[in-house]
Amino acid sequence: IKQKNIRNFSIIAHIDHGKSTLSDRLIQLSGIISDRDFKDQILDSMDIERERGITIKSQTVSLPYTGNDGEEYLLNLIDTPGHVDFSYEVSRALASCEGAFLLVDASQGVEAQTLANIYLAMEHDLAIVPVINKIDLPSAEIEWVKDQIDEDLGLDSETALLVSAKTGVGVANVFEAAVAKIPPPQGDENAPLKALIFDSHYDPYRGIIVHVRVFEGSLAPGEKIAFLSSDSIYKVEEVGIFQIKRRPVDRIRAGQVGYMIAGIKLISDVKCGDTLTHSGNRCKAAMKGFRDPNPVVFSSMYPVASDEYPELTEALEKLKLNDASLVYEKDSSAALGFGYRCGFLGLLHLEVVQERLEREYDLSLILTSPSVRYEITRTDGTIQIIDNPSLYPDPAEIEKTREPFIKASIIVPDRYMGAVMQVSMEHRGVSTNYQYLTSNRIEMKFTLPLAEVVYEFYDRLKSVTQGYGSFDYEVAGYQETDLVKLDFLVNGERVDALSQLVHRDKAVDRAKNACKKLRDEIPRQMFKIAIQGAIGGKIISRETVSAYRKDVTAKCYGGDISRKRKLLEKQKKGKKRMKMVGSVEIPQSAFLSVLKSG
Ligand code: GDP
Ligand code: MG
Repeated sequence: IKQKNIRNFSIIAHIDHGKSTLSDRLIQLSGIISDRDFKDQILDSMDIERERGITIKSQTVSLPYTGNDGEEYLLNLIDTPGHVDFSYEVSRALASCEGAFLLVDASQGVEAQTLANIYLAMEHDLAIVPVINKIDLPSAEIEWVKDQIDEDLGLDSETALLVSAKTGVGVANVFEAAVAKIPPPQGDENAPLKALIFDSHYDPYRGIIVHVRVFEGSLAPGEKIAFLSSDSIYKVEEVGIFQIKRRPVDRIRAGQVGYMIAGIKLISDVKCGDTLTHSGNRCKAAMKGFRDPNPVVFSSMYPVASDEYPELTEALEKLKLNDASLVYEKDSSAALGFGYRCGFLGLLHLEVVQERLEREYDLSLILTSPSVRYEITRTDGTIQIIDNPSLYPDPAEIEKTREPFIKASIIVPDRYMGAVMQVSMEHRGVSTNYQYLTSNRIEMKFTLPLAEVVYEFYDRLKSVTQGYGSFDYEVAGYQETDLVKLDFLVNGERVDALSQLVHRDKAVDRAKNACKKLRDEIPRQMFKIAIQGAIGGKIISRETVSAYRKDVTAKCYGGDISRKRKLLEKQKKGKKRMKMVGSVEIPQSAFLSVLKSG
């Protein structure tokens, strides 16, 4: 395929505006997959994406297309996630593109992530083609959206494509617009190889599959390659393009997006953002790479079974290949043994990482209460940054503490304005201003402590706005705060993994809540168990689990032996998800419930 007949583009949009649906239609129209093998949201291949109905990973698919001019084109579509927590994923994907289709829902109009994404696209100098989707909806307001495209986005709404990804109307025009409006890639095919690693994943049979965008030169099996950052050298076994499945090709060339397999088992050799070149004929300079991810939420992870620590280590390494935004380092806890302190781009990211580790690597994990990063000035004048309650200094040595704040922008139909105000105030938010975007949609701005958002703000917002609230934020510096460390004692023993740093005004509520949850989750045992919340030495809440061991077989009234055996098996399995803390068995679910208790 000739370079001038290649197009690399992404579809960017606010969540739910129809990216995945549009990608589905384009894939179907291109004919790379038979109707029998097709399923909806085909690029959302992870279980967790399908269940939640959101895109988490970007995916590439190469679509063949015969243009109106009779030429054969290869259109590389890179699907990207819409949620803020995954914008790192988006920015990496965009580095491989020359253009982007900006999708706007005809009934919702431009929203927070539409704007955030268009800025990302502009940073990468992409050609941006507006697309108005869902024109089949009775509530579609095409003229209104066109005005927004002109005014809010500064694009020419005359060029906007009108489509319904659902019914298929107008979708074929997207192909022709890709050919006409998105520039072909540039880069000399005969120069030394220069390819950007923008993603990778682990395949148990083939080793690491490296996803690359070739910027200069070309790459074929049998050639010797070097990773610039580690200087490790490998012989290429296979190169190819993504067409839902991997499709091997003879050679990938400047301008193309594809994959490379070289029997790589050593995970540390492959780094997202690194440059790939030929070992014998190196390119002059490395590609620009990616900025480091900037985690805002931290939590420690421990295997429920302590002997699974090596498995957790390996799983994190492999997951990191596929999720460059994950950062982690070793950690340990008196109650839970060895684990990792992990940094996440947000709470959804945290949940996704935990779920992927449990599903893809069959681990069962305990996570500690998520924390933001606090800045502590000690009485001796030194400044300490901490995100881990276990490192919290003696309060007598603390001069002052500051916590991160965010600037939040919330867009809602104006009937929810009062409810949003209320929720925001309950979370220490301060309203800074608001503005009407249309006659009934309003954008409200707040400053809020990030810690509040981490706990439950977002869930509350969704519930009071019945899902109509769109929420976006940026981190906006530190402000002084009144922090305390809240500890929990089970049977008199402090469980360090349950400790949390909270604002003083929230401590009693949080402690009461957490004690109740623990009481409900910790099964009765042979002895009475006291559950206490404490600040320093002072107990501020207390619950008791009364004594009694459940005999699950008692329910069966003799009789059915096989049923009894099944129940015993089940109980044994359940045990595995228990952690011994002192003399008390605490189930994984108890840790999780405290984490979610807010
Ligand atoms: P994404 O989050 O941007 O990937 O959005 P999805 O593709 O998952 O679509 C979100 C919802 O909008 C789904 O329920 C789709 O069925 C629906 N949807 C997508 N495109 C259209 C369209 O053109 N018309 C209508 N009526 N619904 C659509
Ligand atoms: Mg999607």
